[in-house]
Formats: sequence, structure tokens, C-alpha cells
Amino acid sequence: MRMRDELEQKVGLRFSKGLLAADNKEIYQALLELTQEKLAAAPKIQGERKLYYISAEFLVGKLLSNNLINLGIYDQVKEALQEAGKDLAAVEEAEPEPSLGNGGLGRLAACYLDSCATLGLPGDGVGLVYHFGLFHQYFRDHKQQEEPDAWLSPKSWLQNTGVSFPVSFPQGEARAVLYDLYVSGYESGVNKLHLFDLEGVDESLVKDGINFDKSDILHNLTLFLYPDDSDRAGRLLRVYQQYFMVSAGAQLILKELEDQGKPLSELSKYAVIQINDTHPSMVIPELIRLLTQRGVSLDQAIDQVSKACAYTNHTILAEALEKWPMDYLQEAVPQLVPIIQELDRRVKEKYHDPKVAIIDENGLVHMAHMDIHYGFSVNGVAALHTEILRTSELKAFSQIYPEKFNNKTNGVTYRRWLIHCNPLLSQWITEKIGPGWKKDAAQLEKLLAFQEDEQALQDLVAIKHENKKALCQYLQEKAGVEADTHAIFDIQIKRLHEYKRQQMNALYLIWKYQQIKAGHKPHRPLTMIFGAKAAPAYIIAKDIIHLILCLQEIVNSDPEVSPWLKVVMVENYNVTWAEKLIPACDISEQISLASKEASGTGNMKFMANGAVTLGTMDGANVEIHDLVGDENIAIFGESSEKVMELYEKASYTPRDYYPSDPEITKLLDFIISPQVMRLGDPENLGRLYRDMTRKDWFMALLDVKDYIRVKEQLLEQYEDRQAWAKKMLVNIAKSGFFSSDRSIAEYQRDIWKL
Ligand SMILES: *Cc1c(COP(=O)(O)O)cnc(C)c1O
Repeated sequence: MRMRDELEQKVGLRFSKGLLAADNKEIYQALLELTQEKLAAAPKIQGERKLYYISAEFLVGKLLSNNLINLGIYDQVKEALQEAGKDLAAVEEAEPEPSLGNGGLGRLAACYLDSCATLGLPGDGVGLVYHFGLFHQYFRDHKQQEEPDAWLSPKSWLQNTGVSFPVSFPQGEARAVLYDLYVSGYESGVNKLHLFDLEGVDESLVKDGINFDKSDILHNLTLFLYPDDSDRAGRLLRVYQQYFMVSAGAQLILKELEDQGKPLSELSKYAVIQINDTHPSMVIPELIRLLTQRGVSLDQAIDQVSKACAYTNHTILAEALEKWPMDYLQEAVPQLVPIIQELDRRVKEKYHDPKVAIIDENGLVHMAHMDIHYGFSVNGVAALHTEILRTSELKAFSQIYPEKFNNKTNGVTYRRWLIHCNPLLSQWITEKIGPGWKKDAAQLEKLLAFQEDEQALQDLVAIKHENKKALCQYLQEKAGVEADTHAIFDIQIKRLHEYKRQQMNALYLIWKYQQIKAGHKPHRPLTMIFGAKAAPAYIIAKDIIHLILCLQEIVNSDPEVSPWLKVVMVENYNVTWAEKLIPACDISEQISLASKEASGTGNMKFMANGAVTLGTMDGANVEIHDLVGDENIAIFGESSEKVMELYEKASYTPRDYYPSDPEITKLLDFIISPQVMRLGDPENLGRLYRDMTRKDWFMALLDVKDYIRVKEQLLEQYEDRQAWAKKMLVNIAKSGFFSSDRSIAEYQRDIWKL
């Protein structure tokens, strides 16, 4: 049947009208159903040994276009809609973005599922459905406010399977209901994402923003992702939630083995479980518990689970490595306690170094330590990150288990982060080098042949300009901000964290404002775009948002400054925003304090879309630099070695810069100047000012002058449009390494061996 007829039929059946008369919401519903049917009919990827990628987050983004692209029917659908005077992009606006993740780690999980399916590897995701997601961010009085993100609707991509598992808590038995979501591969078969929901979850517990009774765990487990953990009840809830996820996940894995008649005593032959950061770590003792309950001996259960589980480390921030007090586990998951104690006893029997214990002298259970001892692989997520794990953070472990440590530099799926989000550039690339790059991104290197091709370079500039026009229109609609399409677009979008140093970018913004006020007008307008959510209990992060929002108003409403400088902080930064912003970007801000950003993946998306990275030698920026060379990236700041030394010797203090350095002092004093204090909240601004001048734990003042210098140089370089276009071209051409297909091929080769 022709696509137009299929669509007419679907709309007719559901809404008793023709496509012409249907609105975008109705067309979306019809397309959702149609796509689900095609996914159900697509071949299921199969194999002897299967991957379970278990993760607290899957930041999948909107799924309609992605599935249409992967099914190979995007253009057909688009044309069929056009025939009826409808626009697929407008239909997409009707799709809610699933709120199942927080940032890079969750987005990585989604990219990896796409690549597994594309490469034909049998690999399913396992996680939770959060009814209100992370939270929805909005701004009021220049401050972040949070409200529930009610993204779920009765008809969505999630399908109730009718399967459920019991999960026992001291409060009683919970039931985990299994919902499945198809994961399509590009011109390939389908895998699944298995998400568990709590039967009887009570949405009415949520009152007054995102507050709810944290102790009512039999009714609250799947309300929110990362509930506020600033009090004991919140931290306990995270343990309950994690156990709910892993117990249901472990039961699902064992059920799938049993259904196929495979012996549980050979778990590791048929299943590999990739533990995405430490949130799912309790899957190890839970699997051991379930296996022994089903008749496998303790020794064999430990052996099999250790050979089935692999751990990905995502952070070297000590405060982000999960350590649960034993009494929390005793209270929430008493059935796991004897197993964890036994695992710890076995470790202590063999190794006397207290640094490698699972349970430390303070009774804290180190989840990562359990993963390393009782998993067969430990990987970092970028070359520098893995090196730091090996030689510093996890040195004691890498000496015991050198063979377990390996690096898997992160990647992103080009189906979403180029084909879908930047159709103009994708078509242009295909015209130049053919379509092979869509499945084999290494072929993008063929673009290097066009470095001296003036027409090609002009095309790139024109495409970027078109994307800026589209973004400006969207910004106008969504944020009411008028940006100049001829401005340089400088973008920092990522979770708000002091180590990512949005505060340093804000100091640049103050500097630029002061420069323009002093009569130093730039060659060309600059538009600075921010997007970031702060964790609700992270006070300084919220203060930084407050500062940026105050600066936004001061800059944009100053008639002397605003023709040259615009600031936009977008509300509720998410995947959909990223897809709109990245194709229009000139300068990609990747300015974390060296040694702190494990990898970053935003940096990769920007690179593939022809932005030039302004960054420190941190995370995957190091590998971007290796690939494109000095002339196609702007690097600044102290090295990771130097930074680690400063921490080790405790020899950094912002007092070396404030108030002794007059240039830096002028920037910091602006934060508490009458101009800003009148507009903003003196409590927030004062606290941020004191933090930055007295603590500055992530060393913004160490790098800020070099940052300003290099950023100004880069803005200068933009004026040579041809030379800049060449930088864009080299970045796109060299970005193929960061395809998640490459990452997944390496996981498969070195770890999973499916
Ligand atoms: C890619 C992505 C991230 C990760 O960004 P980083 O700059 O690597 O921290 C976070 N959020 C969203 C919505 C993303 O798409």
C-alpha cells in the first residue's frame, strides 16, 4: 500500500476523518501506531549470548523520526504528509519527549542501544519508567523552578507486556510491571528497551512542585528519577529504587534463560550484563541471591555472576562515587546484606589493602569496588579518563586486575545527531561522498578531499547560516529572544555543574559586557546560548543559573550592548533542544576543569555538525584535538597533571587571584555590583560571589584569563570565513571516530563477545 493510503487508513480508523482534516496531534497518534506495527513486524535480533545494558537512565529523546529513519520510511512519510499539506516537523512537535534521563550518561545509553541494533547485536536495555521524569525546569524571578514533567500518556511508545515480577521490601511486596519499547537499528532489526514500573504507583503523592512523601515506597518508587537525596529519606529512597530496578531486571534475565531452556548454572555463557555506572550495582548480589535460591551453589553463583557482569565507570569526582552506609542497606534491602558481607569477606581474605575493601572501616559499602571485584571488565569512557582511573583513582585495583581495565571512548549515534537533526548537512555530505557514512562514519574522512574546494566551503557556510535562521525562528517562538542570524553562535549546553564551569563562561560574559560598555565593540555580534538544569538541591549550581539569568536581562535590555551581544538561557534543556541548537553552533564550549569531565558527548555532537571546539584538554576533547590538530580546535587552560597536583598538594586558592589581580577582580565584583544586586537576589549572588572568591573548588579563576584570551582569538579567526569553513570541514570529516557504532564495535570485540 502507498504510504499516503496507509496513513489515510490509520487516521480514518482512529479519528473517523481524512488526513486533510486531521490535526498534528491526531497525525502523530496515527503515525505512532503505524510505526509500532512496522517495528513489531521487523526482524528480532537474535543470538546465543545476549547483552543486557542496565542503566538508571535512558535519555532516548523523541522517537518518531528516529524510528522512521531507521525503518527507512522517513522520506516516504514526509512526502505523503506534504501531499496532504502537512509538515512532519510540525507533527513531531506534538510528541512529548520521554523524561527518562538526566544527561550524558543517559543519552549514551540511548545511543548505545541504537548502535547495538544497527550492528545487529542482540542487546536489550533494562531500566525504570519514571512517571514525572527528572523534573521540568522553568524560570521565574531569574531562578530555576521545578515541576513534575508529566510526559507519559496512555498511548505512547511503551507497551505493557502483561509480565510482572515481585520485589520484596521490609514494607511489603512491590510488583514491577514490565513495559517494552522497540529499539530500531538503522536498516536492521529490532531490540528492546525493558522498563519497569511500580504497580500501584500513586501520582497524587506529588504536591507543591516536586515534593512527595519519600517514605511511602510502595507507592512512590517510579515517580521521579534521582529524587532529592539531601536528606536520609531521599538517600534511602534511591537505594529502594535501585533495588527495585535490579531485582526486576535480574528476574527478567533469569526468566529469559529459563524460557529458552538454558541452565542457570551457565549464566555467563548466555548473558552479559553491562552495569552503566554504579546505580545498578546491586544487580551483582541480587543475581547471586536469586541463583542460590534456584539451586545453584554459592561458589558457582559468584563465579558465574562475576563472569557475566561488566562495569562502566563514568566519573572520577569522588563525591559522585556511590557509597551506601551499611545501615541503609540493612533497612532497605536486608536480604542482600549477608551476600555483600560474604563478597567483602572474600576480598579481605585475599587483599589486605583497605583501599580495595567493599565495606570500609566506617561501614560504607563502596558500590564501584563491588563491581570491580565481581565483574570481569572495568572500562573508562575516554582515553584520558581511563588513564586517570588506572594510574590514580583506581590504581590499587588496576594493580590487582590489570587485565580487567580497558578504555571505550564514548560515541554518539549519527542517525540522530546528524541525519535527523541536520538534514541539510546530511544531504550535502551524501552528495559529496555517497550514503555509506550513515552506517560507517569513518567514511566521513572522504570529505577531506574538499578542503581546497571553494564551492564546498561556501556550501558549508551557507548550510550553517540556514540552520541559524531556523534556530533564530525557534528561539523567537520559544524564548521570545531575537537573535541576529549573522552573529557568531557560542553554545554551552549540558547539566549545570561547577566542574563544567558555566560560572567561568559567565565571567567571560561579564568581561565582554564591560568591554562593549567601555567602547570596544566587536567586529561582529556574538550570541551566547546556555542550557542547563541544576539538581534541585545543588545550591551553588542554582546560584550560577541565577547569575546567568540576571546577566541575560542586563545585556539584552542594554541598547548600547544588545546589538553586539545577546544571551539566551533556554528553559528545560533536553534532547529536543540539543537537536535544534547543535546544527546552528559555531563555537562549542567544552570548558570543564581538566581531569574532571570523564568524556563528554556533547563535544562530539557539535564536532560532527561543524562547530569548532573551545575547550580544555579534558575527557574526549583530548581525542578531538589529536584528530583535528591544533589549527582546528581552540585549547586553553592548565593540564590535568597540573590540576591533579594542585589538588594533591592543596595548593590552589582563589585568593591568589582575588583581589590581587585587578582584571579578575573587576569581573567578580560585578556579581555583587548594585546593577546586578538590584535585579537579582542578594542572597544568591552574595553566596556565589563568596564561593568563587574564597573556595572556587573547580578553579575557574585559574583558567579564566587564558579562556578569555583564547576565546577572543577564536572569534577573531571567525572573520576569515574561508579558513573557518575549512575548520568546519576538518571537524566534520574527522568526527567519524565518535560514532557510537565504533564504540559498540569495541565493546563487542573486547568485552561482550556476543
Ligand atoms: C549529549 C547530551 C548531554 C551530554 O552533554 P555533555 O556536554 O557531554 O555533558 C546532556 N544532555 C543532553 C540532552 C544531551 O543530548
